[in-house]
Amino acid sequence: MMTESPAKALLDWYDVSRRDLPWRAHPGAAANPYHVWLSEVMLQQTTVAAVAPRFQRFLDRWPTVSDLAAAPDEDVMAEWAGLGYYARARNLLKCARVVAADHSGQFPSTETELATLPGIGGYTAAAVAAIAFGQNATPVDGNIERVTARLFHINTPLPAAKPEIKARAVSITPPDRAGDFAQAMMDLGATICLPRQPRCLACPIQAFCQAHKAGIAADLPKKAPKKIKPLRQGRAYWLERADGQVLLRRRKPKGLLGAMVELPSFGWSDDEAPASIAKLATEWIAVTPPVTHVFTHFRLELSVFCGRIHDAAPPEDCFWRPVDQLGDIGLPSVMQKAAKAAIMGD
Ligand code: SF4
Repeated sequence: MMTESPAKALLDWYDVSRRDLPWRAHPGAAANPYHVWLSEVMLQQTTVAAVAPRFQRFLDRWPTVSDLAAAPDEDVMAEWAGLGYYARARNLLKCARVVAADHSGQFPSTETELATLPGIGGYTAAAVAAIAFGQNATPVDGNIERVTARLFHINTPLPAAKPEIKARAVSITPPDRAGDFAQAMMDLGATICLPRQPRCLACPIQAFCQAHKAGIAADLPKKAPKKIKPLRQGRAYWLERADGQVLLRRRKPKGLLGAMVELPSFGWSDDEAPASIAKLATEWIAVTPPVTHVFTHFRLELSVFCGRIHDAAPPEDCFWRPVDQLGDIGLPSVMQKAAKAAIMGD
């Protein structure tokens, strides 16, 4: 006999097959809002496998939102290094400080109040409200988007389909278990309703799925053709001192890779390193090929130039650091690539 609704079938499956993730409460236990919020911010644009160990390290260093609020900016930015999308880390700190200062260290519980906090958009507000506070809210991430588009055979391409997908997801959210329902949809999308090869035969909601019935599950959701990202080109300098220290620079607090440490670089962002750096060495050797990196809105081709000097005072915002300590300083991914290229090509 067919279960009466997709939500019931999904929740029955979730109760026995849920993924055990470090930020999830054990069955029957209340979820910790700080854990839910932190994991949701980390998981934006980043995989579960990459986030899991980093999440635990964050919690070990800053066990509560008030501990995080009191942390120096540079410690948080360094801990975030490699997770990418650094504006998230800056907003994370801002949000923690507002929660600590204006809400006595307790996250507000409603979707509306959560959405007023820095860096919390509609998705995160709904996810924290539903998962941490049991509110009747419906977050829609990429997994939920895919499952819903297939379940209801939504043919409109993304992103135009988003409002319809949201409305459909809301229509099947059970008010009494909205948090579990959201997590069940996420789990289904991550383990069974896979992007290219959905495992429909193992799917607990197959009987309700219109795309499966029509034999077009793998074709949904449709996507509008991607625009090609523009290419920017820049230069980064690897300047090594005779005693094995390399010149680094802390970028300005705002803007791309704001407040992160870099190899001094030019020409690709609005935060330009002082031109005097190029004059410090008499000879620069280019590493080939240039380092490439894809940002949200553009592709970067960064030419790395290596030079050596005996000694010099560091220019503005720059400082010397031993090469063997670079791993601890929290270089963003593009600068890790540039440093690696310089070391290998040196
Ligand atoms: S039946 Fe297939 S396409 Fe439909 S929700 Fe399940 S896995 Fe996804």
